[in-house]
Parts: sequence; C-alpha cells; structure tokens
Amino acid sequence: MAQMLRNGELVGSQSGKTMPVRNPANGEQVGEIPRGTAADVDAAVSAAAKAFPGWAATPASKRARLMHEAAQKMREVLDEVATLLSKEQGKPFAHAKIEATRVAENLEYFAGLADKIRGDYIPLDDPAKFGITIRRPVGVVAAITPWNFPLTLFANKLCPALATGCTIVLKPASTTPLATQRAIEAINSAGFPPGVINTLHGSGAEVGDALVSHPRVNKIAFTGQTETGKRIMGLAAKNVTRVTLELGGSDAMIVADDADIRRATAAAAIGRFFNAGQACLAVKRIFLFDKIAEEFMTKFTERAQKEWKIGEQFAADTKMGPLHTETQRSEVEAQVADAVKRGAKVLAGGNRPEGAEFAKGWYYPATVLTDVPYDSRMAKEEVFGPAVPLFIVKDLDEAIAKANDSIYGLGSSIFTRDMARLAGPPSSSTRATPG
Ligand code: NDP
Repeated sequence: MAQMLRNGELVGSQSGKTMPVRNPANGEQVGEIPRGTAADVDAAVSAAAKAFPGWAATPASKRARLMHEAAQKMREVLDEVATLLSKEQGKPFAHAKIEATRVAENLEYFAGLADKIRGDYIPLDDPAKFGITIRRPVGVVAAITPWNFPLTLFANKLCPALATGCTIVLKPASTTPLATQRAIEAINSAGFPPGVINTLHGSGAEVGDALVSHPRVNKIAFTGQTETGKRIMGLAAKNVTRVTLELGGSDAMIVADDADIRRATAAAAIGRFFNAGQACLAVKRIFLFDKIAEEFMTKFTERAQKEWKIGEQFAADTKMGPLHTETQRSEVEAQVADAVKRGAKVLAGGNRPEGAEFAKGWYYPATVLTDVPYDSRMAKEEVFGPAVPLFIVKDLDEAIAKANDSIYGLGSSIFTRDMARLAGPPSSSTRATPG
C-alpha cells in the first residue's frame, strides 16, 4: 500500500482507513492509499510549518544542489513511475514516461532559478529616498492537483516552492495518487530535511477542504475544476490565504482561409485528442473560414478515424487510452447527445467502441461534430474528453466574436500565413474570466 510522506517518514492515515485506486481500462484495483483525515492534515501542515524556518534559511545554492540531486533520483525511477501513472490514469505508457521525465526537467529548471531571485530598487520623487522590494518565501504551500496530468502538475507546484525556500503539503487527486507518491519518495531521497516535502491522501471534500482552511497554510496552489476553485477561494478568504487557481478552459482554434490545412489538421488532432482530450489547454472549439471548411473537415475527420487508435495503455500502437472514470465518459456522452438532439451531425466517432477488449474500460473514440448549435452544451461548457465541434465562420471578425462568446479564458490559437491577422483587433474586454 502507498503511504503518505510526513516529516520525513512514510505513514498511514490516523483513521486507519484506506481507499482503492483502479485501472480505468478494466476496473481492477492497482493500489491502495490511506484515507487521510483532518488530523492528518493538521499533522502534515505542522510538519511543514516546523521545517519552514530552516529551509527558508538554507542557502539558495544548497537548495539548488538538492534539487539537481532530486532530478537524478527521479530519472532513476522513470519507468516505475510511468507504469503507475499509466495504470491509474489510463494514458498510454509512452505519454506517461514523457510526463515523468518532465518532473526531472522541472526540478532542474527551477534549481537553476533558485539563486537568481531578486527584488527591485524603486526610485522615489525625493532623491534622498528610495524603496526596495525583498522577495521572501511565503511559508507553507498547500498544493492540490487533478488526475489528468498528475505528475506535470505536482512538479509545477513543488519545484518553485522548493527553489524559493517554501515547504509544501501536496494532495494529489484521490484517483491518481500512486505515481505522485512514488515520485515524491524518490525526490525526497535526495536528502531534503524532514517536513520540507509532505504528502496527504484522501478525498478532496475531506482532506482538501481541511487543508485549504488550515490557518498555518500561507499559500494555496490549486489546479482543477472551476467549481472546486471557487469553493477553495471562498475557504481561503476566511484566513486571507494567498491562492493561485488554474481552472477549466474551452480554447478556440481558428483556421483562416490561407492556413496550411495539413498542419492545421495535425495540430487540431493533437490539441484535441492527446490524453483522450482530458486537458485544460486543449483545442475544444474549432472555427473554420467557409472557404477551407470542407477540406479541413474531410482531412480532420480522416485523422480522427485513422490515427487516434484507442486501446489498452501498454499496447505499443495505442494513441488514446480509456477516459479516466465512468463519470468522465458519461459527461462527454451527454454533451455529444445534447448536440445531436439539437441537430448536430457526427462526422467521426460518437459511440462507445465495440469489442471484448473495450467492455470493461471507459473507452470513447475520437469524435468530430458539425452543425453544433451555439447554445448547446458542447459549445458552452468545457468538453473534457475526445470530442470537438467544428463551426463555420465567414471571416476573422466573426471567428473572434464567436471564440470570445464563452465564460472561459485559458488558451487559443489561430492558423494563418498572414502575421497581421495574428494580432487581431484591439481587445474591448478587460473582464476577468474564470478559466
Ligand atoms: P477537481 O476540481 O475535481 O479535483 C482537483 C483536485 O482538487 C483533486 O485533488 C481533488 O481531490 C481536489 N478537491 C476536490 N474537492 C476539493 C475541495 N472541496 N477542497 C480542496 N480540494 C478539493 O478537478 P479534476 O480532478 O476533475 O480535474 C479536471 C479539471 O482540471 C478540468 O476542469 C481541467 O480543465 C482542470 N485543469 C486545469 C489546468 C490549468 O492549468 N488551468 C490543468 C489541468 C486541469 P479528489 O480527487 O480527492 O476529489
């Protein structure tokens, strides 16, 4: 059974309870984690708070050396960590290995920054006076990560915290804790002082809530759903805790009439179907100038049908594994069904794959739709799976207006050979968006 790292030791939950972790390809249990409680949260935060003054006072060059050593330790367990990730998350092993490698690269990148953190000198009106800013570590960081890119996203939070002299309590998603826990154990074996790095396992509602509400947490770094982010922001407000939220998105891709269609379709396919579409920054709505719409649709549909082979994570030719959970698949199915009910046409996919090899997993094929109404769920909501609506527009103004008609703001792309088009019209909106 996986355990939690706390104050330099591997421990179970104080409740003695556990939670299973399952393989989305067949429902089999692949591991078990302690089901943490509020008492575990308190113990982990206390360990991180106790370790903070010593870690903050550690010379940046020493922190950097430990991080380089940790990167080496991480590289030694890449296959083991990638195997765990592939099994618990559902992504192909090759993609899991790339993600595991990113953890080592991220450690090295931030190790390089550790001794380059500077403040500012601010001249004031009175020449005899000046202001300075000094950057100091904030303290205990609570890091909460989702299941879609568990390793990349924990590394994005852990590495800057370590480099700047903060200590951390990391809670991975309860359905993908195994690879994160193993990677953290490898990283910690580089010799970080006890309490600098801690993990917590358990349900978001229980340990997540207790963690973000803890008065000794100085900073919350969260990635996940917009609704969870709103709840965390509310809980953090009670202690006026700093919060960084990375939430959902519904990125638009615009394909202009002068675009290279081969490259645009290839990019759209990777942008939408990589990780079975379960990505925040992903191509979620495609706007096609009418002149190239037919050619794009034909070539893109062909790619979706031929190139994005679904299958079991460890098969060499698998490009898309199962979706992560049954709920996740049902959600995508409901969004596609809503579009079809309102008149959309399915160009590729749209139904669960048939065959014994798919019977026990949450598989769903690369799915392409057209004639999707703008008020349908697919157009309005985040589609967190391998399905994408194609919309036809007459020009750039219409494409941008439609792309911006969304509550989400995260990423976007435009395919054109005309650099002037990339600049677009001046922005008329300064509204904050929840994405
Ligand atoms: P969730 O918000 O459901 O879960 C994310 C994490 O928050 C999990 O560890 C979860 O624990 C925890 N959590 C759940 N409830 C609470 C709570 N009340 N208090 C504290 N923590 C809680 O998101 P998903 O895992 O479903 O992730 C998918 C979402 O993440 C998508 O919307 C996607 O767009 C977004 N995302 C955004 C990215 C970005 O950079 N903008 C990058 C990647 C994903 P548990 O698993 O135990 O429920």
